[in-house]
Amino acid sequence: MNMKYEIVIGLETHVELSTESKIFCSCGGHSAANEPNDCVCPACSGMPGMLPVMNKRVVELAVTAGLMLNCNINKYTTFDKKNYYYPDLPCAYQITQINHPICTDGCVTLKTSEGTRDIRIKQIHMEEDAGKLVHSGNSSFVDFNRTSVPLIEIVTQPDFRSAEEVVTYLNKLKSMFRSSGISECEEGAMRCDVNISVRPEGSTEFGVRTEIKNMASFEAIERAIKYESQRHIDAIEYEIEELVQETRRFDDVSGKTFAMRNKETEADYRYFPDANLMPIIIDDAWLEEIKAKKPVAVDEKADAYREVGISEKEIDMLISNHKISKMLDDIVAMGCNPKDTATWILTDCAGVLRKDGKTLNDLTMTAETLATIIKMVDSGEINRNAGKKVLIAVVEDNVDPVEFVKAQGLDKKFDSSAIESVIDTVIAQNEKAVADFKGGKEKALMALFGACMKELRGAGDPAVIKELLEKKLKA
Ligand code: ADP
Ligand code: MG
Ligand code: ZN
Repeated sequence: MNMKYEIVIGLETHVELSTESKIFCSCGGHSAANEPNDCVCPACSGMPGMLPVMNKRVVELAVTAGLMLNCNINKYTTFDKKNYYYPDLPCAYQITQINHPICTDGCVTLKTSEGTRDIRIKQIHMEEDAGKLVHSGNSSFVDFNRTSVPLIEIVTQPDFRSAEEVVTYLNKLKSMFRSSGISECEEGAMRCDVNISVRPEGSTEFGVRTEIKNMASFEAIERAIKYESQRHIDAIEYEIEELVQETRRFDDVSGKTFAMRNKETEADYRYFPDANLMPIIIDDAWLEEIKAKKPVAVDEKADAYREVGISEKEIDMLISNHKISKMLDDIVAMGCNPKDTATWILTDCAGVLRKDGKTLNDLTMTAETLATIIKMVDSGEINRNAGKKVLIAVVEDNVDPVEFVKAQGLDKKFDSSAIESVIDTVIAQNEKAVADFKGGKEKALMALFGACMKELRGAGDPAVIKELLEKKLKA
């Protein structure tokens, strides 16, 4: 037969939100936990009679996600109970949204090797996560640290046509959520259910779909899509098996998918409104407040960085790190040059931290402090070498940059006579090096130059100093 097939994919992506507390109680997020059941209270462990209290921040982050994905933000939103019995769900129901989700009808544009593609977002809803089962020998344990951790679930329309598009989409979500503080999207904090079907090219009807549950690695998602779509095509082409709508799991070792269960229908979950939680009304004032705080979309931000000459590599680093891009934006707002500031942060600060085995995430310096250093350099008060010295002292010993510059005499505006007298002293004190240089050893010049720089403690313009030194030696 050899018909050509089109792959159709829709995604349901769960993202753990970076809130300080869980969605309906004041327990810290499970990432704060050290031991199993560290972060639990009567509410999130399902003790009888406990009532949920809505975390306002969850609503704000869900709305922010909706704005970034061009959704309608629904002014009236409610919670529902999704009932099922499993030991990781202490109440035997999950609080989620089915009747009035918070965001609907969005759209995200992807840049792929084939051009741009629009993926429609069906909805975003808020829900709580379930706990975790730990199996050991003949026993099973349940860890409730993750119960009631806030999630948003982003459901797309079946608009993807390849694994590449899916991975591009997920990477884009990840950048967006990181850059806006919605989620750090660490390992396991972003999990997808991948719905797949195939159809003959040109057909307008959808084929039977299967759903691969709970995929956390983008690489595994890519492999699963390739395997599962081929299984569908083979099933149709050779009629070796009948495709049924079902839930499957992907086995990382064999690279194959296996049937888990027939797909549940909505009725199986006996959804009904959660009477313990009031409807949430998002009025115009609140929406405006959230909009005002909404960071610019990733694409716009990258374009803006590109425009001021920041390199692609630096843009990638900035876009995926909210803390750092915010620091850059803040420093630029204080009047510093964006491209220079990017170098100060991503090359200089990162380099100093790397020496101690740290990363930019460990940077404790404030934007104001770094702006102070950059401005001292830009104004010519100190040279860039001295600026780097100040930076090291700030990062390592948390000194005050202005005090440090004064104490070290880095800000001395060396006039040429001051520089000359330093050079004269150095020449007088280093007879051997001077003789070596005069005898043709070029390297001796660097030793003398180093001695001058040391004496000047990094002040003065290195190029000018070197020129003067050479002139004096050759005189
Ligand atoms: P359900 O209520 O059964 O979960 P939804 O309509 O919510 O179904 O769809 C769930 C996901 O499956 C969505 O991401 C949607 O895009 C996707 N989907 C629906 N039909 C198909 C199909 N024929 N092929 C691939 N994905 C599909
Ligand atoms: Mg669904
Ligand atoms: Zn709790």
